Amino acid sequence: MGRSFEDNVETLDGILPALERNGARNLIGGEKSEAASKDRFLNRSPVDGSGICDVPRSSEIDVASASEAAEDAFSAWRDVSGAERRRILHSVADAIARKAEEIAVCECWDTGQPVRFMSKAALRGAENFRFFADLAPGARDGRTLPSPTLMNLTTRVPIGPVGVITPWNTPFMLSTWKIAPALAAGCTVVHKPAELSPVTAGMLAEIAWEAGVPGGVLNVVHGFGEEAGRALTADRGIRAIGFVGESRTGSEIMKQGADTLKRVHFELGGKNPVIVFEDADLDRALDAAVFMIYSLNGERCTSSSRLLIQSSIAEEFLGRLAERAKRIRVGHPLDPSTEVGPLIGDSHFEKVISYFEIARSEGARILAGGDAHSLGRPYVLPTLLAGVDPGMRIAREEIFGPVLAAIEFDSEEDAIRIANDVRYGLAGYVWTNDLTRALRVTDALEAGMIWVNSENVRHLPTPFGGVKASGIGRDGGDWSFEFYMEQKHIGFALGRHPIPRLGA
Ligand code: NAD
Repeated sequence: MGRSFEDNVETLDGILPALERNGARNLIGGEKSEAASKDRFLNRSPVDGSGICDVPRSSEIDVASASEAAEDAFSAWRDVSGAERRRILHSVADAIARKAEEIAVCECWDTGQPVRFMSKAALRGAENFRFFADLAPGARDGRTLPSPTLMNLTTRVPIGPVGVITPWNTPFMLSTWKIAPALAAGCTVVHKPAELSPVTAGMLAEIAWEAGVPGGVLNVVHGFGEEAGRALTADRGIRAIGFVGESRTGSEIMKQGADTLKRVHFELGGKNPVIVFEDADLDRALDAAVFMIYSLNGERCTSSSRLLIQSSIAEEFLGRLAERAKRIRVGHPLDPSTEVGPLIGDSHFEKVISYFEIARSEGARILAGGDAHSLGRPYVLPTLLAGVDPGMRIAREEIFGPVLAAIEFDSEEDAIRIANDVRYGLAGYVWTNDLTRALRVTDALEAGMIWVNSENVRHLPTPFGGVKASGIGRDGGDWSFEFYMEQKHIGFALGRHPIPRLGA
């Protein structure tokens, strides 16, 4: 028997009073603190607008302290053996798994994401730590590249203190996805969580500390993107920035980090196509298309927000899809039966709602939803827009809500052209039973990740990331270490090879 709504509410009620009393705090060098200025802001739940906790509004001063703490802790953490790092990071994973229910309900309350997804996301956080823990002992491994005169070796070394900046949509899971490989590589971290969902960042830092990650190795600085976030990207001690968020923010970070020559890793927005050909298994394609746009409130970078449907099957497929969209259960995020919860907040709600007007004015047909939900803001109805032309804004811009834009196509060439005709290139989903077509289409799609006859199923050793405006760099497996580490080449002379003699 799974947990009920009442169980989840009880768990949350056990946590909220302390959160409200103590507030979120920065964690710098193992010490909890307020912002140096003592400025705070109130973090509210999107569920009912109630205050959850106050949060430090950190500035450059706080970021500088955290960066110094990360610098001070770096050499000792770098030199911890791979086996010991593996042990510590497994302890973090164990502790996350033990606290998964608490993490999940806090995440629901802070973000509006339904518990059916957040309980899995919390456990995925533990899995991320386990996966990178096991890779830690081999992180420094290199190659031997002998030449006639030299024994050339390569080794990898951690780059140093890094900044991690995360968004609000699934904050806990995404933070672990960036922080676990950084720690496994031997880097120290300053994490700036999203101002709209700061709660679980504190839980992760506390868990890590209790599990044996030394003070200063994982630091948290709360605050706004334009203040604490900007300061982190410009800080001289921070060697690299792992960022997950909007494409526009990625551009800003690149500019902000230019003076200090920051290495950057960007996981950005998407407008991902799910392409359904007439020969596909249409029942499975329907399930996957519905899941990939309406799960996680549609606030999901890999959501399939554009349905490219072959004209010959469009009417029937869209009819079935509309029926499913209308039946999706919108409700309280702590209710296990809820499929779509409230959006993150009022301003995002306004943005999503504005696209319903844009859709109408652009001449799209609204087959489902297209309005706020009767529960009131920030709940919206799962929405299906049809008759969409690839040039319309609803077909080109990331809405980041439960809104699917359906575009019809006739030929394979049309499908590829339409799929690629956006600035983004994160993920793509292809449904066909024609093997050679699947090979042609996946080869032609401009996307970092493509699934054939499948929804997004993550396998941690595979590369995660996007092309074009969707990102720079890859996470997953050894790709994560490539970002958090530097290659070093060392050449040992094998004998007395002739050295050019100048001025002899
Ligand atoms: P956002 O870019 O507004 O904010 C993300 C983080 O950046 C926040 O912590 C914010 O405070 C910080 N930030 C904002 N301005 C900054 C600045 N000038 N300097 C430094 N930091 C700054 O994104 P969001 O609205 O929180 O998240 C939604 C976006 O994230 C969507 O575009 C979504 O597609 C994307 N996303 C991408 C992935 C991926 O893996 N590709 C995953 C999840 C979300």
